Amino acid sequence: MPKVFNWQIGRDMDYLYDGARPKKQFGMVMDLNKCIACQTCTIACKTTWTSGRGQEYQFWNNVESKPYGYYPLGWDVRILEKLGVQPISAGPYQGKTIFEAAPEGERVLGYRPEDMDYTSPNVGEDDSTGGIINEGGAYLQMPHMQWMFYLPRICNHCTYPACLGACPRQSVYKRPEDGIVLIDQTRCRGYRECVKGCPYKKPFFNALNRTSEKCVGCYPAVEVGQQTRCTIGCIGKIRLQGFINTPDKAREDNPLDYIVHIAKVARPLFPQLGLEPNVYYIPPMHVPSWFLKQMFGATVDQAVNVYRRAAEDKKLLGALMLFGATKEISHHYKVDGDIVTGYTESGDEIIRVPMHEPIITRAVFDEKLQAYRSNIT
Ligand code: SF4
Ligand code: SF4
Repeated sequence: MPKVFNWQIGRDMDYLYDGARPKKQFGMVMDLNKCIACQTCTIACKTTWTSGRGQEYQFWNNVESKPYGYYPLGWDVRILEKLGVQPISAGPYQGKTIFEAAPEGERVLGYRPEDMDYTSPNVGEDDSTGGIINEGGAYLQMPHMQWMFYLPRICNHCTYPACLGACPRQSVYKRPEDGIVLIDQTRCRGYRECVKGCPYKKPFFNALNRTSEKCVGCYPAVEVGQQTRCTIGCIGKIRLQGFINTPDKAREDNPLDYIVHIAKVARPLFPQLGLEPNVYYIPPMHVPSWFLKQMFGATVDQAVNVYRRAAEDKKLLGALMLFGATKEISHHYKVDGDIVTGYTESGDEIIRVPMHEPIITRAVFDEKLQAYRSNIT
């Protein structure tokens, strides 16, 4: 197998094809401390892309609760179990990726979910890891003894996509102009090898047209400089979508580069699987590090610590203020005094956001209107 360099695991690894990075790479950051599981993103995606026949069970964007929620059922625990216990430590990853652990005669280590696994999205929703009321104030500790959090997921538009590697007809391709991964519907014969190969289970089989379908990264929007529907619609303003460079080419004025490579506050999901996914997560602060390490890599504690001190880094705070601020993609940004400004690729200003909002405390009793007020902080 050809060798490619995967910066997320810090070493060369086996992949099905020679590595060829796109000119630009689609990327997204999601702040898991802010998601409220309102599912607006899910519906924004569903009404835009998957309202057709045969797509009823397809959620290109889904939001599940961790640790017990999944879609499809058990997707992460099943691939982790198949991969087996692997060493995870800071520095280059010593374990096997799903390409290196592929069984003899197969291209990728994977499994195909049963139809039943798709029947209950959000099963286990809002279950915490244990009782709270009778545990003597467990919820007052940090990290919480009992915990849960919401995990929104889309296709990661991976640098080394397992869906692409697994497809025997080469129907899956990665666009050189923006790194978005698509399935060529005219070539696809519905073998479902992409469904089996993708560890994140983001390609879905359409039983009516007999082809596989997946998140298209809202490419028609991205092509005209707009962020994806799930990003624009996000009520919690947890998402920022744009383009990301490799660490050696990170640009200080690119908000995604700053968040991921310079501040190092966001991490990819299951980097040890070896796909170099391009969706990054700011880990939830209240969750124990032993759980976060398996999900986001050995150095996740660092990310949590940086997030706690985000207010001390004006450039980081500025990048975080761009979340949910505009529908356009901020290719560049600048922090000047108390204002963060986002710019298009060609340098036109698209958004200005104040870094701090004024706090106004009103008098409890309004003489003019003869009314009592309550202040909420
Ligand atoms: S997340 Fe899955 S479907 Fe998306 S590019 Fe990666 S391997 Fe392919
Ligand atoms: S719209 Fe935003 S806050 Fe709501 S579930 Fe989706 S990611 Fe979470």
